Amino acid sequence: MLAADGSVGGLIARRGRRAKLVQARESPWRMQYRSAWFRGSVMSKESELAEIRHAVRQLCAQYGEDYWLELDRSNDYPTEFVKELTTSGFLTVLIPEEYGGAGLGVLEAAAVMEEVCRSGAHAGACHAQMYVMGSVLRHGNDEQKLKYLPKIASGELRLQSFGVTEPTTGTDTTSLKTTARRDGDSYVVNGQKVWISRIQHSDLMVLLARTTPKEEVAKKTEGLSAFIVDVKAAEGNGLTIRPIESMINHHSCELFFDDLVIPRENLLGEEGKGFKVILDGMNAERILIAAECIGDGRYFIDKACDYARERMVFNRPIGQNQGVQFPIARCYADVEAASLMVDKAARMFDAGQPCGAEANMAKMLASESSWRAGDVCMQTHGGFAFAKEYHIERKFRETRLYQIAPISTNLILSFIGEHVLDLPRSF
Ligand SMILES: Cc1cc2nc3c(=O)[nH]c(=O)nc-3n(C[C@H](O)[C@H](O)[C@H](O)COP(=O)(O)OP(=O)(O)OC[C@H]3O[C@@H](n4cnc5c(N)ncnc54)[C@H](O)[C@@H]3O)c2cc1C
Repeated sequence: MLAADGSVGGLIARRGRRAKLVQARESPWRMQYRSAWFRGSVMSKESELAEIRHAVRQLCAQYGEDYWLELDRSNDYPTEFVKELTTSGFLTVLIPEEYGGAGLGVLEAAAVMEEVCRSGAHAGACHAQMYVMGSVLRHGNDEQKLKYLPKIASGELRLQSFGVTEPTTGTDTTSLKTTARRDGDSYVVNGQKVWISRIQHSDLMVLLARTTPKEEVAKKTEGLSAFIVDVKAAEGNGLTIRPIESMINHHSCELFFDDLVIPRENLLGEEGKGFKVILDGMNAERILIAAECIGDGRYFIDKACDYARERMVFNRPIGQNQGVQFPIARCYADVEAASLMVDKAARMFDAGQPCGAEANMAKMLASESSWRAGDVCMQTHGGFAFAKEYHIERKFRETRLYQIAPISTNLILSFIGEHVLDLPRSF
């Protein structure tokens, strides 16, 4: 059960029991019961997910759509919401129990993100707190993990910023121009980044920079290194942050590095192997963002159906017209189909199976289906879709992002073409 305060504490206790069951399953006398046990475990997993969804919905209900509208108007950050999502354990579900997190999987994390978006909230304000941490977890040394993870789990530290994209090189990540030059026990960073989100609301950032020129490495993915940057210490001491006025309230900024000194102990993983540090986190990121799109899609369909049932024109509810009904029904089918791919990718990720193709397909299908659902929701609402108090136009703007970031649809298609279908490489 969830703890009385709606946290995931109860789930942690139950996971302990499940671990014992896994051991018991290995004993010969239980072998004959294996399939029955497995069916039971699936049931229990589903009810665990249902409990998480229910609790997240309850939490989100305290932050209604007007809360998000006001933040959108003022470009402010949902500080109270993020704090509550963190202290109740939902934002730290992926952090292992030994570091103070819930130790759950991407499947549970995806359920959290989906429900946040379905409630009308903008999960982009905090989603990276879930997955950037994975770079430290998978590639950090023991000292780094002990230093950062418990504090991220408790909410004392926010690690929700990652600095990869640059203005001149964009999607061509291995051509990035920001350099980190080794100088004794430090690295000195120079260069520029763009669209780095939430940095003004983050204590730490994972930064990707080149430590060996591209011309001097055998493979273009080599010679890049990842660093943990203490943002508060860096700002004004080699790091300048300039917010970008943008279409959605995503707190994205330009960064300028001018001889920023980073201690060597902040190198994440091996020098020159930073591309892998970033790449390893991408599948979780794609799956979680896909889950957000599913939440958005379901939000739009709920809204469209409610309105289509109630709005009377020509003395009948507009939803009685099949010209209004069918587009909503098609979007429902689209979102449900995309949701199956998200679910598949999340389960593969949690089982430790390679899931690059599934994670990418989930992100692409979910982001396209949420966009179509947003468009149909707008159309269903007619002129009122443009009124901010209906909230749809804000969500419509927000969900559009995910066909572009963190990776654009074309790049996903190119991944599928080359790596799944073995078609000739184009770049
Ligand atoms: C609101 C927002 C928040 C963001 N947050 C972050 C963040 O926190 N951290 C971070 O590092 N980045 C962030 N980004 C950056 C984001 O990841 C990039 O915008 C995205 O990866 C696309 O890169 P680009 O904008 O440079 O597009 P470009 O690389 O310039 O591409 C432009 C278009 O051309 C297409 N294209 C390019 N090359 C090819 C090709 N070879 N074949 C076919 N099509 C191609 C692309 O698909 C795209 O549609 C954010 C962006 C936005 C808008």
